[in-house]
Amino acid sequence: MNKVSPFLVVCALIFLAPAAQAKLEVVATTPDFGSIATEIGGSRASVTTLAKPTEDPHFVDAKPSFIVKLNRADTVVEGGAELEIGWLPALLDQSRNPRLAPGAPGRISCSEGISLVEIPATLDRSRGDIHAAGNPHYMTDPLNAKIVAEHIANAFCQLDPKSCDTYRANLRKFTEELESKSAEWEKVLAPFKGQRVVAYHDTWPYFARRFGLNIDVFLEPKPGIPPTPVHLAEVISRMKAEHIHVILVEPYQNRKTAEAVAADTAATVVDVAQFPGGVKGTEKGYIELMDYLVNSVAKALSEGKK
Ligand SMILES: [Zn+2]
Repeated sequence: MNKVSPFLVVCALIFLAPAAQAKLEVVATTPDFGSIATEIGGSRASVTTLAKPTEDPHFVDAKPSFIVKLNRADTVVEGGAELEIGWLPALLDQSRNPRLAPGAPGRISCSEGISLVEIPATLDRSRGDIHAAGNPHYMTDPLNAKIVAEHIANAFCQLDPKSCDTYRANLRKFTEELESKSAEWEKVLAPFKGQRVVAYHDTWPYFARRFGLNIDVFLEPKPGIPPTPVHLAEVISRMKAEHIHVILVEPYQNRKTAEAVAADTAATVVDVAQFPGGVKGTEKGYIELMDYLVNSVAKALSEGKK
């Protein structure tokens, strides 16, 4: 038998090893989808997220580097329901990546399979409402996160069948943790059922519905339209009349406006985020973010009760 040259062995290892370990290249639009794609992909996927956790998902600062990332991606995980309509379509066009074309297996639109709320009966974009396809902030309900995780696992299996067992195992692990935490979260917020909370933007209808709260008074007169003095005066009188004492503000919203309203109504401003890493202590992922949201809202509501 001929001896195999060590040089050839080394060459073979160099050329074969990367192919054997090629990871699924995933681009997520926002950090909530990025977090769940990371949970499902585990060691088999390399996940890049475009939007920063402190950025408004409707108006993401589109950098040229995003085009390069999308060009190399096997799959893009997007929210859909027009969440990214202001910035993603142009990037996808420029990335010239047929794997991410609408209808291709690499185009994962997470709103498919989600029951959207607040779908307008008549579409009138002239009013400036940026929730024209229904409310796209559905990930604040953990049950929707479970649907999205299943959707992502199915899509990853289709794109990379050899790693499907890993994706399914990761899905089971994530779902089990999410279900046990969801029961805990419902208990934490149970004492506050029916209470009303003010938010800067209409980000929280799914969170509110899941936990029995009413988050339906907003500092913005319409989603995407900045607060006006006339509208804020109406919000203030409503807060006084109904004894509403909590205002939710996200990192990219004008906290000073919320503070001015809070000063007038003896309310508490609570810093929240819809994305992991948007507020301190939530960097680890979706479950840590939900933990923070549930506990900070419960704390503010219980302080206001006194
Ligand atoms: Zn919105």
